[in-house]
Amino acid sequence: MLAKFLPTWMVQATYDISPTKLKELGIKVVLTDLDNTLIAWNNPYGTQELRTWMAALKAAGIALVVVSNNSQTRVDRAVSKLELPFVSRALKPLTRGIKKAMHDYQVTKDEVVMVGDQLLTDIWAANNSGIASILVKPILPSDAWNTRINRFFEKFVMTALVKKYPKLTYRKDININERNTK
Ligand SMILES: [Mg+2]
Repeated sequence: MLAKFLPTWMVQATYDISPTKLKELGIKVVLTDLDNTLIAWNNPYGTQELRTWMAALKAAGIALVVVSNNSQTRVDRAVSKLELPFVSRALKPLTRGIKKAMHDYQVTKDEVVMVGDQLLTDIWAANNSGIASILVKPILPSDAWNTRINRFFEKFVMTALVKKYPKLTYRKDININERNTK
């Protein structure tokens, strides 16, 4: 059961993930969570680091697609400033959003990776879909009550994961030669 929550990699921040390494892995599409992964609630335009990273991804020929559990209206409003394609109502940890994005872009499981800040939605959804995942640190602690409850369980699961997989820690980048495996 615990293995369902195991991220393939853990990286400090989304913009630390090297597009060159993703390319070496054969990644064609990066699926990403929105809130606290790409942007903070108080900065819908994203940071300069994020914008630089998005440009580097584009230059590497890798598509970036937001896969969010939020409604169409909410995601559309948030993502319009970043000019990114998206799938809303993704139902993470279920596979709906990830499968839809993979179908839209006609990519195989080996050609996508899911980036997110939550084990119980993003990483679980990636594992349910049989694709690789990258857990990043949340940009900001959230005030939303449902996220706060989630954080409590997140902490609980992370503690159990680290106990079972002692090497788990947030790193500077992905290591293409070393995946966390069950
Ligand atoms: Mg999030």
